[in-house]
Amino acid sequence: MLRTNSDLLHDEAVKHLVGGVNSPVRAFKSVYGSPIYFKSAKGAIVTDEDGNELVDFVQSWGPLIHGHANQEIINNIQQKMANGTSFGAPHVGEIDLAKKVKSRISFIEKIRFVSSGTEAVMSAVRLARGYTGRDKIVKFDGCYHGHIDSLLVNSGSGLATFGIASSPGIPADTVSTTIVCPLDDEDLFEHVMKEYGGEIAAVIIEPMPANNGLLIQRKKFIEKIRTYCDKYGCLLIFDEVITGFRFPEGSISGLMKIEPDLITLGKVIGGGLPVGAYGGKAEIMDKLAPIGPVYQAGTLSGNPLAMAAGLSTLNLLDSEAYEKLENLGSMLENGVRTILGKYNFPMRIVRSSSLFWFSPGTEKIPKRADEIPNNAGSKYLHLHKGLLEKGYMLAPSVYEVGFISTAHNEEHIRGFISALDEVLLEIEVR
Ligand code: PLP
Repeated sequence: MLRTNSDLLHDEAVKHLVGGVNSPVRAFKSVYGSPIYFKSAKGAIVTDEDGNELVDFVQSWGPLIHGHANQEIINNIQQKMANGTSFGAPHVGEIDLAKKVKSRISFIEKIRFVSSGTEAVMSAVRLARGYTGRDKIVKFDGCYHGHIDSLLVNSGSGLATFGIASSPGIPADTVSTTIVCPLDDEDLFEHVMKEYGGEIAAVIIEPMPANNGLLIQRKKFIEKIRTYCDKYGCLLIFDEVITGFRFPEGSISGLMKIEPDLITLGKVIGGGLPVGAYGGKAEIMDKLAPIGPVYQAGTLSGNPLAMAAGLSTLNLLDSEAYEKLENLGSMLENGVRTILGKYNFPMRIVRSSSLFWFSPGTEKIPKRADEIPNNAGSKYLHLHKGLLEKGYMLAPSVYEVGFISTAHNEEHIRGFISALDEVLLEIEVR
C-alpha cells in the first residue's frame, strides 16, 4: 500500500509537533514504518490520507465500542451541540449519564466526571489519601494508570519495592510513597500489607490488566487484595478505564463480583469524546469539594457533548451488543489460534470479550509483566507490518491489546484470519 501522503504529512508534522504526535504510543517507534494519517473513519474502517482503507482493531484505543462515527451517537452529539458546546454549569446530561453508569455498576453511589482517564485516577488517588489521611499507594507492575507522577513508576530489582520514576521530571519524593508489587503473587502482597498496611491509603489495580498485554488475573488474587485492604483500612481502587463497559456485567468488578471502594472509568463512557470518571460509596465521594475538603475541579468536566456521546454509547450497549462482541471475539480467538498453530508461530492469542492480545512466546500465558519475554516485539514487528499491508490495523506495539467493536462483522474477522494466514506464510518462506 502506498502511503505517500501519510509520509509527507509526517515529515511536516515533526517540524511542529513533538515526534509528529500528541501521544507517544501513536508513533510507530516499536514497529516498521511511520504513523498513518487518517482522513476519515466509519464503523470498523478507517481511510488514510492516501485513500487506503483499513479494518481498524485499535478503535481509538478503546473508546469506540460501536466503531467510528456511529450514526446514533453522532446525531445525539449534533443535537446537543446546537444548544451550546460547553456550559461550565450543571445540566441534565450529567445526571442522565451518572444514572446510566450507576444502573450498570451498582456499588457506585456518587460519581464525578472529569475529562480523561488520567485525571480520573489522579483524582481518585487524591481522594483516597484525603479520606484515609495516609500517603502510601500500592500499585502493580504491569498496570498502567495514566501519566500521573506517583503512578508512573517501575518496580526496582526486588520483588516488591518502592517505585522508581519511569520518566525524568518526576521528583523522587513523589514516587517514594508508591510501592510496586508484582501481579499474581498473594504472598508478596500479604507481606507488603503486613509491613506497611497501616500507612497505605489505597491499593490500585487494573483488575484485568490490559495495558501491558492482557494479563488476566486469578479471582483469588483479587479477592486477597480486597481482604487485605479491609483488614488494614486501605481503599481498593479498580482502574477500569479500559475494561469499563466492555463486559455485560458492566465492569470486571461485576464480572468477578468483587467490589472496590472506588472505580475509575474512561474511554467507553465518553463514546469517543474526552471523558473520565470516578465513583464509589457516597461516604467516600462526599469527601470531595464542594461537600468535603478534597479539592478537584475541571473547566470542561461534564461537558454536554461528551455526556451525550457517553450516554448514547451506553444506551446502545444492550445484551445483543455484548452477545455480538462475544461472538466476534470468540471467532477471532479460534481462527487466530488455528493459524498460529498451523505455522508453529511463537505467539498465542489471549482474549476476554472484545479485548484480545497477541501474547509473545510459547511458554505459559503471562499473568505478570515479568513473564512476558524480553524480545517480545521481534515477531510482532513482522506481523504488524504484514497485516497493515493487507488492510488490517493492530496497535503499533506488542504490549497493546486489540479492540473489537459492534461495528465489526464476521467478514472483517474472517478477512483478518485469512490475512494472518498469508502473513505468517510470507514470514515462514522468507
Ligand atoms: N487507566 C487505564 C487502565 C488506562 O487504560 C488508561 C489509558 O489507556 C488510563 C488510565 C489513562 O487514560 P487517558 O489516556 O484517558 O488519560
